[in-house]
Amino acid sequence: MGDCGDLHGSCLCGGIRYRAALPVFHASHCYCSMCQKQHGAAAGSYANVASAGLVIEQGAQLVTEYASSDDGRRDFCRVCGSTLFWRSTASPDRIAIALGTLEPEYSGPVERELFVENKPAWLPCG
Ligand SMILES: [Zn+2]
Ligand SMILES: [Zn+2]
Repeated sequence: MGDCGDLHGSCLCGGIRYRAALPVFHASHCYCSMCQKQHGAAAGSYANVASAGLVIEQGAQLVTEYASSDDGRRDFCRVCGSTLFWRSTASPDRIAIALGTLEPEYSGPVERELFVENKPAWLPCG
C-alpha cells in the first residue's frame, strides 16, 4: 500500500492518477441502468469516501464530468474513457471511486448491492 494506507488509483491510459484518504464508508455494486451504460458492464462498483480526501495527483485537466441526472455527476478520463468517480451534488461531502481503477486491487469488503432487480441475467457465467 502507499502512503498512510491511502487508496491510490489511475485510469487506463495512465494520464490521471489520484489518491483518496481512508476510511471507506462503504463499497457497493450498483446495477442501475446508468452505471451499466457508463461502465459498459453489469455494475458500477464503487468505494464511498470523503470528498475532502480526494487528491488528483496528475492529469486533472483530463478529468471530464457528465451530469447523468439532476444531482449525479460522473467523472471519466477524456483520453481513455475510464470511469473514475461518481458524486451527488446533494451530498458534496462524499465521493464514490470506481473500484476497478484502484492500484493495488481493492482489498476491503463490498457490503452493498444496489438496484439488484436490474442485475443482468447474463452476469453469472454458466
Ligand atoms: Zn485515461
Ligand atoms: Zn448506479
